[in-house]
Amino acid sequence: RAKETGKARCLVYSPRTSGPPEHDISLEAAMFQAVREGEFLLYYQPIVDAATRRIQGFETLMRWKHPTLGMVPPVRFIPIAETNGLINLLGAWALKAACVQLKHFEEAAKRPLYISVNISPRQFRNDKFLEVLDHALAFSGMSGSQLVLEITEGTLMIDPVHAESILVKMAERQARIAIDDFGTGYSSLAYLKRFPISVLKIDRAFIKDLPDAPKDGAICNAVLDLAKHLDLSVVAEGVETEAQLDYLDRRGCQYIQGYLTGKPMPAHAAMAALKEDLYASLMPIETQAGPR
Ligand code: C2E
Ligand code: MG
Ligand code: MG
Ligand code: MG
Repeated sequence: RAKETGKARCLVYSPRTSGPPEHDISLEAAMFQAVREGEFLLYYQPIVDAATRRIQGFETLMRWKHPTLGMVPPVRFIPIAETNGLINLLGAWALKAACVQLKHFEEAAKRPLYISVNISPRQFRNDKFLEVLDHALAFSGMSGSQLVLEITEGTLMIDPVHAESILVKMAERQARIAIDDFGTGYSSLAYLKRFPISVLKIDRAFIKDLPDAPKDGAICNAVLDLAKHLDLSVVAEGVETEAQLDYLDRRGCQYIQGYLTGKPMPAHAAMAALKEDLYASLMPIETQAGPR
């Protein structure tokens, strides 16, 4: 009994040479509690067509609503979940819930949409990942072709041979792969040739100072050009201003995502945004607001 207590204490207080800082240990304990209490939620951020501003799909973004800490941002809890393995549980839940939600979104929109889900390195490498994916698709009745999985360059680089075998299986299910935070990772462009990738998401770091930052502009242009020649779609992340949208649209960036066209929001708000979109599309063109 005393030994058990000792063990538990050891687990909590043992000094660490690596891993999250001490104060995060209580956050880690709170996470297990949060799973039991159902404190994790999914928010949805619209991905829109830059030219028409119609919603094409949503990115699923996880939120943790703690009773006293309030909203804990993913940058704080995802790394912990990645370290202790809880990401596999949370990620499986998110994938399934997102697929089910897509069906509701499509009913509201009366047209096909897609859902984009972030997959962490540890989830991607988990033995059960394909099973989790197949279960989410079967349970929701959603086609794999409506799913985009967002991974980072780093995820591909850890073990390229394994990554390739997983990506081939994704392709068999017609699920698309997006490279998230494109351009910020530590990798070579050779993987764009080797792996079946469909989408590049230009990181917000290259968007935020547009249109007045020549170097960022040059990088965006180069990515758009590269994508065009490799037959990939591009999504610009973190678009906050009309000037940024205009800049990207003029240079042939087809899709954008950012606070300008919609913040991450709960499912009910996303449903409302889709209905607005639908009514807007039914209105005669001359009464529609905004540039065309
Ligand atoms: P990400 O996948 O690159 O997601 C984009 C982040 O940019 C989101 O932050 C989003 O809220 C934020 N964002 C979108 N538009 C704008 C904008 O116009 N301006 C600014 N300043 N920010 C914008 P969030 O939701 O805090 O998520 C941060 C990261 O946490 C994500 O980056 C992703 O790497 C990770 N994450 C979130 N949800 C999940 C999840 O379900 N699973 C996994 N594995 N990771 C997740
Ligand atoms: Mg993402
Ligand atoms: Mg991103
Ligand atoms: Mg990013």
